[in-house]
Amino acid sequence: MKERLCLALAALGLVIGAHAAAESERFDTVVIDPGHGGEDRGAQGPGGLNEKEVVLAVARRLGARLQAAGLDVVLTRNSDRTLSLEQRTSIANDARADLFLSIHANSAHVSSARGAEIYFVSLEATDDQAELVAQRENEAFGMLARTADGARDPLFEILADLIATEHLKESNEFARLAEKALANGSGSPSRGVKQAPFVVLMGVQMPASLIEIGFLSNASEERTLRSEAQRDRIAAAIAAAVLEFGRRFDARRGVSDEQSIVRRGG
Ligand SMILES: [Zn+2]
Repeated sequence: MKERLCLALAALGLVIGAHAAAESERFDTVVIDPGHGGEDRGAQGPGGLNEKEVVLAVARRLGARLQAAGLDVVLTRNSDRTLSLEQRTSIANDARADLFLSIHANSAHVSSARGAEIYFVSLEATDDQAELVAQRENEAFGMLARTADGARDPLFEILADLIATEHLKESNEFARLAEKALANGSGSPSRGVKQAPFVVLMGVQMPASLIEIGFLSNASEERTLRSEAQRDRIAAAIAAAVLEFGRRFDARRGVSDEQSIVRRGG
């Protein structure tokens, strides 16, 4: 408990630091977080494809596309290494990113489940299935299991206070753009925009989304996710959503076309 409290306090310190820093107005920095890594392989498909591997491949492709569009891109990991959820959050806050994207692949007991799900943070999950996804993705934090009487770990409440409500509207907007882009461009059905309490999204001081790119537990989708073409389709769809989000972001802040990196046709 003592160690975990220290972690929470460290997270608080980072948040205060991020608030004190001046905000750059225009949309220029995106942090991409490939889930899991190292000892934590994440979900695994029946054919042996690991989540940590496919999400890194998609994150790299997405990063390359955004860099080609002139944006600064930071990957929380660019190799197969172990990284805590708090480290991922810190990297995003230190980079003063304008958008944080955590990339994951899904798993379900029902082997027919397929398609992408796009999440943004909330304390209460949209439904039981979303709650299960959050529990699985929060395992790296070693907490958040509900006790027998349904109460949550007290540390969860501390983290919950870190949810930056001022960014929820933009997080919702990005999620809807990503949902539409993936539904149209990934060749896989969309399962919609959902909300759930993801630890990695709680402390970030910027619009943020967690994208489950497909179900590794579905043998057919696992095969598709192995293909370079599908990985690129997913990266292209998410990149298009990021650029459209950036245009709206800049327009809302009165960033001129001259200054905007993501301006239409730019
Ligand atoms: Zn995951």
